[in-house]
Amino acid sequence: MPELLTVEQALAHVLAHAEPLPTETVALDDAFGRVLREPARSAVDLPPFPSSAMDGFALRAVDTPGDLPIAFRIAAGAAPPGPVPAGAAAGIATGGTVPEGADAIVPIEVVEDHGDRLIVPGEVVRGQHIRPRGGDVGAGEIVVDPGAGLGAVQIGALAAAGVPTLVCSVRPRVAILATGDELRSPGDALEPGQIYESNRRMIAAALVGSGAVTDVLPVSPDDEVAHRAAIERGLEADVLVTSGGVSMGPHDLVRRVAAELGVEEIFWGVAVKPGKPLAFGVRGSTLVFGLPGNPVSSLVGSLLFVRPALLARQGHADPEPRYLDGRLSVTIRRNPNRDEYIRARRLRSDDGPRLEPVGGQESHMIVRAASADALVHVPRGAGALPAGGCVRFLALD
Ligand code: AMP
Ligand code: MG
Repeated sequence: MPELLTVEQALAHVLAHAEPLPTETVALDDAFGRVLREPARSAVDLPPFPSSAMDGFALRAVDTPGDLPIAFRIAAGAAPPGPVPAGAAAGIATGGTVPEGADAIVPIEVVEDHGDRLIVPGEVVRGQHIRPRGGDVGAGEIVVDPGAGLGAVQIGALAAAGVPTLVCSVRPRVAILATGDELRSPGDALEPGQIYESNRRMIAAALVGSGAVTDVLPVSPDDEVAHRAAIERGLEADVLVTSGGVSMGPHDLVRRVAAELGVEEIFWGVAVKPGKPLAFGVRGSTLVFGLPGNPVSSLVGSLLFVRPALLARQGHADPEPRYLDGRLSVTIRRNPNRDEYIRARRLRSDDGPRLEPVGGQESHMIVRAASADALVHVPRGAGALPAGGCVRFLALD
């Protein structure tokens, strides 16, 4: 048996085969969750004019402290009627345009407003509470770089910068197929030997937010004809994810049928627990993941390999899983040969999350896993990781 690939090596193979999909022009309102492919540049200086950061009065700092006539009042969204005369003040709302002549804003809380006169009891600092034109970004400057995922803050920035359309990756289509004679839908009565099918829905949910469009295929029974039809259909997608049927048993048909359909296997077997018999292959630019059927194995494979592959196919600059740092609440023995992914609960503590493994770490125990919100990486090696020691984890949420 050849030595298993490490998780890092396996992910490197996956990413090396993940060709970026073409691009398309997308309206800002359809861009959330996608990956940007060309720089998005600001249409304007932002703010487009010097604006007030406070409700208050615009004036000249040299005129303070003082008793000043109020020349006019400016609401947000209106141009000032003219400059503020020397020795006078103008009422201004947050976001209002600072009139010519003024070089500071004094907040409403610290003055006495007498309708036509303003008493400023203290000295005001020049420039205070004025947001300079272009202080956030200048017209033509980059708002979001290519390769970035578009989340809420990027969408907000692009809207603020007046960008109506973007060049993004086409969304990858991911087909999700479960295999197994024993699998029934929740709600059906179970005959002897049958279980409920969980992996298709779980994998689809694990890929939400990756920018992909999921196509959940019917469950394939463990016979070659059904597998051939189902895998053939799945291969029309940009990424095909199968669950089950990739181990050594006589009913494990996925790898053989995929090979017959022209899928070139790149690797089979990763030094990871759970999820070791994971298979990865390609046909043309379509990536094919054969995840082991135990539900926790399918979950781990989806997060470690499938999600990064979908991001890479969209040209994401940083497609690898995003680990967070935490500390173990207990000692954990390391597996000498395989990286382990332990399901744990995050507990709040002063020095960051403390990670408490949930009871029941076997790969079929998906219900035990459901009380966890962290997938803790325990690197392969000798000995144990001590309680209190630093580890990396993936958020399960
Ligand atoms: P396999 O990888 O096909 O050998 O399946 C390994 C274990 O996972 C067996 O106990 C299967 O019954 C179970 N299993 C396979 N596919 C699924 C699925 N889609 N949902 C729930 N359990 C599954
Ligand atoms: Mg099976």
